[in-house]
Amino acid sequence: MSRDESPLVERMHQHSRTVFGEMSALATRLGAVNLGQGFPDQDGPEVLRDVAIAAIRDGRGNQYPPAHGLPELRRSIADHQWRFYGLRLDWETDVVVTTGASEAIAATLLALVTTGDEVVMFDPAFDLYQADVALAGAASVSVALASPDLRPDLTALAAAITPRTRLILINSPHNPTGIVFTRAELEGIARIAVDHDLLVLADEAYEHLWFDDFRHIPIATLPGMWERTVTIGSGGKSFSFTGWKVGWATGPAYLIDAVKVVRQHLSFVSSGPFQWAIASGLQLPDAYFDDFRHDLARQRDLLALGLRNLGMRVLTPQGTYFISTDVTPLGFESGAQFCEWIPDNAGVVAIPMSALSDHHDADSFVRWAFCKRPETLRVALERLTAVLPRR
Ligand SMILES: *Cc1c(COP(=O)(O)O)cnc(C)c1O
Repeated sequence: MSRDESPLVERMHQHSRTVFGEMSALATRLGAVNLGQGFPDQDGPEVLRDVAIAAIRDGRGNQYPPAHGLPELRRSIADHQWRFYGLRLDWETDVVVTTGASEAIAATLLALVTTGDEVVMFDPAFDLYQADVALAGAASVSVALASPDLRPDLTALAAAITPRTRLILINSPHNPTGIVFTRAELEGIARIAVDHDLLVLADEAYEHLWFDDFRHIPIATLPGMWERTVTIGSGGKSFSFTGWKVGWATGPAYLIDAVKVVRQHLSFVSSGPFQWAIASGLQLPDAYFDDFRHDLARQRDLLALGLRNLGMRVLTPQGTYFISTDVTPLGFESGAQFCEWIPDNAGVVAIPMSALSDHHDADSFVRWAFCKRPETLRVALERLTAVLPRR
């Protein structure tokens, strides 16, 4: 075997790089403000840290926790789905705890799709999806979110379904665009799934990060959908501890059983002490979730206004950590050109939407993370204002 050739399996070659890791490394190297990668620069609730620390000190979870998750956490997840969405889950059969939402997505795809299957998803999309579909040996089919506002196009979705389609992967609130799917959009997707008897993977990592009246609706609550949907949640995103990597998948027992089979052979079990902490997070009063959303909405408003004043076209996000802006009004050719220019010239890092897309509809857009302290956002805006041409 030649040492000059990468030993990496063929199907992963096009997934060799992840834009988030590269942009964060660049930000660190340049001392730039990192509005690229979506992680808060402020930790979540103090009480959750205390629970994790106490668990470590008391020896709860320092050795392998139970397979499929701590019963206390699985019960809390089931209670949470009832409390927020009216979904009645059996915590023993309908819930599996994972190493972040990331592992839940990987385990679900590895369990449910294989060679010859197609997975249909909207584009742009979180880059992990296509890599996981490739790992499973299946093919990704991407349907462009439609210009000018990057909303789901249900006619295009229906047209993408073939006899090989096995699963539709959706993500709402949506990374990277910040849109929250409406009930009508979800009903349209549900109709297609039911008509073609497809499975659905619903990545709801941002379920608590919606703003104004754009309330998140789990597709599993729609008629005919519970029995065909695996729903994914993320403790990292819901409680601002993205380094803890506690996530979960919920759904009907026959689907979760399949996910459990694969997941137990990936990370086997997930971090014990943090499972205790996330279990108590899920039991926090409504005020926590409301305040979290309101604080984040203020950060969104600060960054959105600043970017708009710079002359960009801003798609005001309805949820998530991210703002999408069209930078072509500033005279840049594309989001990619803009994102290459600003680290050196402004000391700010953002993500070109084209890095998360197979289509050209997203080329002029840039994704900005606003899950940062107001001071951080102000510094970024001042730096951009100093170097961008005044309109
Ligand atoms: C961050 C993110 C995830 C991964 O969540 P973890 O719990 O950190 O693994 C999954 N989906 C989307 C859309 C995300 O943005």
